[in-house]
Amino acid sequence: MNRASLRCITCAATYPTTQPRYHCDQCGDLLDVTYDWGAIDPERLKRLWNERLQSPRPIDRSGVWRYRELLPFYEDESQLVTYPEGNTPLLDAPRTAAYCGLNRLTVKHLGFNPTGSFKDHGMATGVTEGKILGMTAVLCASTGNTSASMAAYAARAGMLGIVLVPDGQITFGKLSQALDYGALTLMVEGDFDDAQELMREVAEEIGIYVLNSINPFRLEGQKTIAIELLHQRNWSPPDRIVVPGGNLGNSSAIGKGLKELYDLGFIDRLPRLTIVQASGADPLYRTITSGDPTRLITVHAKTLATAIKIGRPVSWKKAMRAVEWTNGWVTEVSEQAIADAKAIVGRDGIGCEPASAAAIAGIASLVEQGTDEVVSRDEDVVALLTGHLLKDPDYTVRYHVGELYEEFVTETRVLQCSNPIRGTFANMPIRVPSDKQRIIAAIEGFRRSEALTGRRG
Ligand SMILES: *Cc1c(COP(=O)(O)O)cnc(C)c1O
Repeated sequence: MNRASLRCITCAATYPTTQPRYHCDQCGDLLDVTYDWGAIDPERLKRLWNERLQSPRPIDRSGVWRYRELLPFYEDESQLVTYPEGNTPLLDAPRTAAYCGLNRLTVKHLGFNPTGSFKDHGMATGVTEGKILGMTAVLCASTGNTSASMAAYAARAGMLGIVLVPDGQITFGKLSQALDYGALTLMVEGDFDDAQELMREVAEEIGIYVLNSINPFRLEGQKTIAIELLHQRNWSPPDRIVVPGGNLGNSSAIGKGLKELYDLGFIDRLPRLTIVQASGADPLYRTITSGDPTRLITVHAKTLATAIKIGRPVSWKKAMRAVEWTNGWVTEVSEQAIADAKAIVGRDGIGCEPASAAAIAGIASLVEQGTDEVVSRDEDVVALLTGHLLKDPDYTVRYHVGELYEEFVTETRVLQCSNPIRGTFANMPIRVPSDKQRIIAAIEGFRRSEALTGRRG
């Protein structure tokens, strides 16, 4: 049964969910999906969700729809679109913990979703709502992962996917997915912020369903990241959840999920949500530290972590609200810190894309400096790794061979580069002749140098 309505985050005007709507007619602000919950019995639902772990039904196997009692915006289960998604692992990351200065650190690797990023959580619900509304085409602007995910889910649901991506600023891993999944892929000569603006104008003019994070139904799927995380921890909340922030939809969604779990009685305290931005794309950090958190300070975004290369985040007010609800914080980290943190996550045998590593770099910096906010050694911290290592192999190889630059212009070859990033933890490949003795010598040399530096372990 559909118990949902849309409510403005600022003036609280409400609207039915029967038509596509992204903004409040009264004041123009963003909308939340809100529910008339009826009777929710947390203990009964916790048991039911446990039972669903054994079920073969795709919607029970989905890490989104398993929790569908907290997503009651549909009439009939046959409407639900699923890959299935979610079910991403919680992993112990001992080397990363030591690097951050923590006694222990757990990561939830959202890169293990079907298209390799957490965007799949949001597309399960967003595409479902599109289907309920009878849409035949869906549209998004993207730094890469949204387009990859939307392209796949549109294809699964038999819809046309149309993506606007910034020309030359999207990794091949992500672009290859959008192309292979059959989306109409428009490379916009501009950056993500330009593409997002154009997308809004196009959507308004020709009325295609928008699946960016301004669509509140996408955030409903992403709130289940928090629900699944708490379920995996048997409903024991960590002290802190750390997440990278770009357009700020994900941090907003996780904040909403946590607050609903708390308000409905599933958990008895709220983890502190900590959002990490790249220092070259840090509008929320600037805003929260500006003394006037009600006015967004926009920036011209610059970072190699393309998934968070956003200077005018649409969901900044929702993210600010999530930080307030959970007594959380926002911080920022340098390109060098992101690159080194990423290599450390790799050393744990886990790996992630650059944007995800910002979360790790953020923890390390808050433990070390603790100026605005202090993270203590024995806090129980969960970092959300948002995307898979293989999304951006270029960055990784460049780091390890010492060819990563904060700025470089590529056409067919490198034309100009500046501000090199040190390969602090580089694992340089070694070129060897095709000769057995030389290969053995290289192996022995490597093991000797490791024994000297005590690197392994
Ligand atoms: C989309 C994305 C982000 C940023 O999430 P927002 O909701 O835009 O803040 C971070 N990391 C990865 C890998 C992403 O795909």
